[in-house]
Amino acid sequence: MQWSGWSLSLGRLAGIELRVHATFPLLFLWVGFIYWVQTGTLAGVAFGLAFIAVLFLCVVLHEYGHALTARRYGIGTRHITLLPIGGLAMLERMPKEPWQEIIVALMGPAVNVAIALGLALLLTLTGGWTPIDPEAPLMMPASFLQAVLIANIFLVVFNMIPAFPMDGGRVLRAALSLSMGRVGATALAARIGQTLALGFGVLGLFGNPFLILIAVFIWIGAASEASATEIETQLHRKPASRAMITDFRVLSPDSRLSRAVNLTLGGKQKDFPVMDGPRVVGVASHAAILRGLRDHGLEGRVGDIMSAPLTADSSDDLATLLEALQQTPEAQFVCILHRGELIGVIDMENITEYLRIQSALQDR
Ligand SMILES: [Zn+2]
Repeated sequence: MQWSGWSLSLGRLAGIELRVHATFPLLFLWVGFIYWVQTGTLAGVAFGLAFIAVLFLCVVLHEYGHALTARRYGIGTRHITLLPIGGLAMLERMPKEPWQEIIVALMGPAVNVAIALGLALLLTLTGGWTPIDPEAPLMMPASFLQAVLIANIFLVVFNMIPAFPMDGGRVLRAALSLSMGRVGATALAARIGQTLALGFGVLGLFGNPFLILIAVFIWIGAASEASATEIETQLHRKPASRAMITDFRVLSPDSRLSRAVNLTLGGKQKDFPVMDGPRVVGVASHAAILRGLRDHGLEGRVGDIMSAPLTADSSDDLATLLEALQQTPEAQFVCILHRGELIGVIDMENITEYLRIQSALQDR
């Protein structure tokens, strides 16, 4: 078990890292508390905790439904994280093919449909169906399995709400993009999502306050999805050479770390391409330089601390570069080559700056 940020890694299952967010145990405390207040018995608390544990097992299976389907289309999953509000499968990218996106999105809820059907079959075969007893406390139905079945149906309905960030929102967007552009489809799906959010919000004011929470969740999800797609469009078909830094310093593998220190303190650049003659052979990142200073001092060699460079051609599109940088955050920047020769570098900050300039020009 190992921490990464706010999440604790539980290990790998089917080749995908499973993580639990630090706030996740709060859910169990909260559920235990609610059941204690509602039932006043330890048996009630035990029921509540077992119920939420099994429910989250179903959530994990749901996320694996997305992740393993994506894998069939050659898309890896960085990790699956459990949050108190549900699970999140961090796919390396979303499929660009609308049909693939629809299937990846549907295979999560499909897992819950399968679980619900399996439980229904089991309850039928064992005669385990229990009529709802109006006298029994609502929080503690007589049949555990029946409660899990109902919860899975709820998961399907909730996830199929046609709004981001729910699976239904992805299905809607992908379905719309079959007949219009992806950006237009996202904008329309986002507008539908925000209209739904308003509806939930109004319903929440007069009824269940939980709906207000869902409304806020959907509103934010719709806005961020729309802006992510907007950014992608801005960068699409724009060559890397448009946004690269051309004024930069380089190191050689034989340079001493003192040289890197002088360049770092004497300018704004913190990460350096490492060149052996005309060839880019590595990258000396700020973190690696500091680590090298700790281990070897000022006399350490750059060649000993550098890592493999991320390279792209000057005609590659900026959207691809952004994706590459997001996938390897430790890379810091991409070396831009023209006929094999280094002509510039691009980091996240410069891409952000490029977007700011584009949007300022468009606002005229
Ligand atoms: Zn899902």
